[in-house]
Amino acid sequence: MKRLQDRPHLLEVGYKISRRMLWPFRRWLKAGGWVERLFIQAERVGKGLLFDCRMCGQCVLHETGMTCPMTCPKDLRNGPCGGVRPDGHCEVLPEMPCVWVKAWERSQKMPVYGSAILKVLPPLDRQLEGTSAWVNEATGISQQVPAGWDQ
Ligand code: SF4
Repeated sequence: MKRLQDRPHLLEVGYKISRRMLWPFRRWLKAGGWVERLFIQAERVGKGLLFDCRMCGQCVLHETGMTCPMTCPKDLRNGPCGGVRPDGHCEVLPEMPCVWVKAWERSQKMPVYGSAILKVLPPLDRQLEGTSAWVNEATGISQQVPAGWDQ
């Protein structure tokens, strides 16, 4: 299933379609309860298998080459640290390709959202950890940025 990540265009189209499908239900999703619990489980399993999702609750996959930035050992959400090895591997886990090298490569194959990788992302709201990023996106919670953030 993870090999699907190397077909980022297919994934970005899937993201675009699912976003549109969820939009009409945003009010309903705001209710939380069992609906949100169902989404959390679906996300944990589906995105866990596909992206090694860490359930940050504020998904930015389409802005990071369909590569989860939370799989970076340093949790970096805005590009690589200064320690990427000459072979493109991680400073902390030498056996692992740098998440941001993969993110960049994949973003180049994404005609719809690929350029979003150049955007500086707002700080992660750690209070959303463990919640459903799908619900948070549909209800607008994940688009809320800290006061003073004007990127
Ligand atoms: S960005 Fe967050 S919600 Fe999206 S795959 Fe990574 S941990 Fe999961």
